[in-house]
Amino acid sequence: MQTKTFGNGGPAVSAIGQGTWYLDRGDRQSAVAALRRGIATGMTHIDTAEMYGDAELVIADAIAGLPRQELFLVSKVLPSNASRRGTITACERSLKRLKTDHLDCYLLHWRGSYPLEETVATFDELVASGKIRSWGVSNFDVDDLDELHAVAGDGKIACNQVLYHLQERAIEHAVIPWCERNGTAVVAYSPFGHDEFPSPRSKGGEVLQSIADAHEASARQVALAFLTRAPSVLAIPKASRAEHAADNAGAGDIKLSAAEIAALDK
Ligand code: NAP
Repeated sequence: MQTKTFGNGGPAVSAIGQGTWYLDRGDRQSAVAALRRGIATGMTHIDTAEMYGDAELVIADAIAGLPRQELFLVSKVLPSNASRRGTITACERSLKRLKTDHLDCYLLHWRGSYPLEETVATFDELVASGKIRSWGVSNFDVDDLDELHAVAGDGKIACNQVLYHLQERAIEHAVIPWCERNGTAVVAYSPFGHDEFPSPRSKGGEVLQSIADAHEASARQVALAFLTRAPSVLAIPKASRAEHAADNAGAGDIKLSAAEIAALDK
């Protein structure tokens, strides 16, 4: 599994990670098995949020007994909780639910009404107390990132987690370049469009499948390889079936040629 530096001078993290939104909705045993299969195949980067129902509890079951230092756990505070006291309480709640003593990265889920100064100061406090190793944001556009950078200073924003899939590539214009200039990792969420993956009968789907055939890979693996082609971009597909998790992990080793990237781009 390919790894990428997570933020400015941050650790090497699996380029393909595991999302967990709705992972608590189906069969618990198969969700745990999917996460475990993903971890065993190198997807040690796991994304969750206090918003995702019982997903943190499912993760706790999946990681029980595994060496903590080999995992990269990310959770998120809801904007409505992002006051000083609220952020600390939400973080402690997530740690308890995940049955761990620290998060590798803690994100503001999207921008809300609490001043960024307050949330950033609290994130710094959580870093100082060892409860989180780094912090970042989600769903921030360039204006928000500029404002945040003015508050936080250089090299502090570990990541910006944003919507990025084959049919939604808006972040390529300004968000990815901003993050690359500032040493901020870009984490692509809903990399399969949540449930809008191109049909094999569509024009784009045919291109995807022909490239997949050339690599003896799946169309989803090729999509993930395309989305993570820039050095700053990681992706967090969600899979509640072990075979899907194993398939996604296989994307971490696919290297697309310039011609294949151009064909997908088109
Ligand atoms: P997604 O990863 O784009 O797509 C998930 C869907 O793809 C599920 O139906 C899953 O099926 C299917 N799938 C996964 N791997 C597959 C494979 N190899 N072959 C066939 N089907 C496959 O959807 P998402 O959950 O919206 O996004 C991923 C993660 O990003 C979330 O779980 C969450 O952690 C994060 N996220 C963050 C935000 C934010 O605001 N920060 C917003 C949305 C999502 P099965 O479940 O049946 O395996």
